[in-house]
Amino acid sequence: MCMNDEWTPERKTVIFGLDGATWEILDPLLSNGHLPNLAELIHSGTKGTLQSTRPAVTAAAWPAMLTGRGPERTGITHFLRPEAGGYDIEPAITELGQLQPLWQVVNHWGENALVFNVPTIGAEEIEGQMVTGPLTKTDHPLATPSELNSSLTGEYSIYADFTSASTEYEKLQEIRAVTEHKLETSLKLATEVEWSLMVSVVYYIDQVQHRFWHYLDPDHPDYTDDSRMQEGIASYFSMVDSYLGELKNLLEADSEPYSIFVVSDHGHGPTYKSIDIDLLLNRAGHLTFVGDDNDQQPSGREYRPTKATIVSALKSAGLLEFVMTNVPERVKKFVGDRLDDNKRSPDDFVWDETVAWSYNTPVVYLNTSEGRESGTIAPDGYEERLADIRSSLLQLEDPERGVPVVQDVLTIDEAYGEFGDIPDNVQAVLPDLIIIFRNESEYKPKTNEISTTGDILFPPEESSTHIREGILVAGGDGVRSDQSMEMNIRDIYPSVLRLMGYPIPEGATGTVPDLFTEDVEAYETMDYKDTGEGKVGDENEEIYDRLRDLGYL
Ligand SMILES: [Zn+2]
Repeated sequence: MCMNDEWTPERKTVIFGLDGATWEILDPLLSNGHLPNLAELIHSGTKGTLQSTRPAVTAAAWPAMLTGRGPERTGITHFLRPEAGGYDIEPAITELGQLQPLWQVVNHWGENALVFNVPTIGAEEIEGQMVTGPLTKTDHPLATPSELNSSLTGEYSIYADFTSASTEYEKLQEIRAVTEHKLETSLKLATEVEWSLMVSVVYYIDQVQHRFWHYLDPDHPDYTDDSRMQEGIASYFSMVDSYLGELKNLLEADSEPYSIFVVSDHGHGPTYKSIDIDLLLNRAGHLTFVGDDNDQQPSGREYRPTKATIVSALKSAGLLEFVMTNVPERVKKFVGDRLDDNKRSPDDFVWDETVAWSYNTPVVYLNTSEGRESGTIAPDGYEERLADIRSSLLQLEDPERGVPVVQDVLTIDEAYGEFGDIPDNVQAVLPDLIIIFRNESEYKPKTNEISTTGDILFPPEESSTHIREGILVAGGDGVRSDQSMEMNIRDIYPSVLRLMGYPIPEGATGTVPDLFTEDVEAYETMDYKDTGEGKVGDENEEIYDRLRDLGYL
């Protein structure tokens, strides 16, 4: 085996990521001929499903796909989490460069990578080019190498801006314009530089479904039969498909062997109600809100930071400058509009009377006395408390629908046990329980959607949310055809490296599936270098609270 730093890849490989894409939406579009390029790739390759992380959240799922490491190694189960051993909220996302992403392995062997619009915190050191997506931090560049930043200013927009969109149709068109401009930019970069690996993510597919699912699903309680919206959504997906076609043309013109993965980080399903998990824990006696002991009605009370608080927080995080320089005027107004967002902060809880809390995410943290200053659970009481909380969650019924709200509650061992031992520093930031809601998506907690009425269940802002089953299409050289594959999201990483002909790093928790033709050789796994695996936390903790204030989380 060749062990020097120059190793020509067997195949160029593209990961075309469709955030949140789901077969429930794509299958009818395929049958109606709206997605000819995806149909052709399926016809010549493999169509299947990709099982996302638990919970199936963007923040955990893309790192799992691109680093081969799930929450059991990254410590990421949501955008936000309590700090290790404490209560303050910190952003969970780190630089993917700490987790040996695919492009780092490709760079290791002397090849370039093009990484476009991956939801990560900023452009990182790379041989090739990287343009980050909507979660870019203020103190991180949008693009590397730095010359690329200036070429992206002007019309390039990280976010869709809805301030001038008064109808749902206009919002859809704004999303379409931003998506199309990004895809054009990615294609332009793909023709300008040499690369062996390209990762390109279409982030707004997720948003199109969150916002507009009820136009597509006759069974949804809010179903709206509006042909202009239905055609607009189909046309949005066709536009994305046409860029897949352009990308294939580009690869064909190159006449080198290539393979393509079209994947989503999770799927989507209908959402019927929002749920306030902390309020549920409060009612079940596991959590005390500030003010519970006096006559005021604190439960589900609105937390409204003032404009001054936000502006000073933006300043201290350095994000104010980002908002003022990188974001168009209309978005600045939008920031103002979001200041009254409804959310909880650690100050809303009486910690020495609280056993469990969630910050209204799909996970629950137990207030253990080991390491937490106001811990209420001694080690010998842990299992009993865990069982109590699990049963409180499982007992919740939707009085209107007469169905249980929670389908299952998993411990960390149940969710991640199959991926081996969890390092201690990762264990320290993982939650204690992961909640699976009825049919995964029918109920949804959201950090900035807490109850203002005192009802645990209330109407949701969005008509769909994530399910674990995402999409997988693989095609091109080395990929077997006529397969029906079910893969775990962690398996994309070793699959891509296998197709490219590189050894797979030790430490990735994915496995190589039976996806390849016989001429795809298996090289041994190897220890590339100390990757800093398991590093958690981030020095600039304010930033994700700010991103939440901006409405992106
Ligand atoms: Zn996503």
